[in-house]
Amino acid sequence: MKKNIVAGNWKMNTTLEEGKALATSICELIINKPLSAISGNPEVIFFPPFTHLTEIVKIAKKVKGVYVGAQNCYSTDKGAYTGEVSATMLKSIGATHVLVGHSERRQYFKEDDQALAAKVSQAIDNSLIPVFCCGELLPERKSEQHFNVVKQQIVKSLFWMDEADFKKVVIAYEPVWAIGTGETASPQQAQEMHEFIRNLINEKYGMEIANSISILYGGSCNAQNAKELFKQTDVDGGLIGGASLKSSDFFQIICSF
Ligand code: PEP
Repeated sequence: MKKNIVAGNWKMNTTLEEGKALATSICELIINKPLSAISGNPEVIFFPPFTHLTEIVKIAKKVKGVYVGAQNCYSTDKGAYTGEVSATMLKSIGATHVLVGHSERRQYFKEDDQALAAKVSQAIDNSLIPVFCCGELLPERKSEQHFNVVKQQIVKSLFWMDEADFKKVVIAYEPVWAIGTGETASPQQAQEMHEFIRNLINEKYGMEIANSISILYGGSCNAQNAKELFKQTDVDGGLIGGASLKSSDFFQIICSF
């Protein structure tokens, strides 16, 4: 069964103290209204900066259904790669998830499909759940290349996996033109791409697996529009940037199934 998930990508925001306060505040809201009592029984994942992970893990560990992941990991497990952080290290401090292929990593750090496949592999080898981000640029949508772009990203970085490993992946469709812009994909645009992704998975791995993979929407999803987006058949939650930094907004999104 696919799970509903709301994940907060904090990006390079918050000091350690601010991050702890944010996680604590969201966890308090969840303690008062447990996820199991919320429609859709969603899971929640925080993706704080690396420096905060250990402390945020301590906070999240106390609340059922709340997990902590990293925003990135390196494509190999150890060695002379100054400044990088491995999936093995993330696992050792209690992270359970890792974002792979966020558009900001693709754009600013030139991460390509091959490097992302290696990162997915590192995540799986270390029992971390990769949350794989895909999505097209505005000119690609305008030229009606969006389906093809997303297909290539998924085929090249994920479809090398066998069934047993692929089942562990979460996919986030994040049209780049909607990230941090305030311009959200319409529920129809989100649904048609999510359905396309699920069909791709069906063709490669079969219906049972296709129906078990959570596909999240990301791109200016907020407390006002989450309900309409999450209502779509193939939208299993959201990867939230800006709106994950305000506990009341993020909690309202959690309550939008
Ligand atoms: C993101 O960074 O993954 C994201 C979706 O950001 P925002 O919600 O701010 O558009």
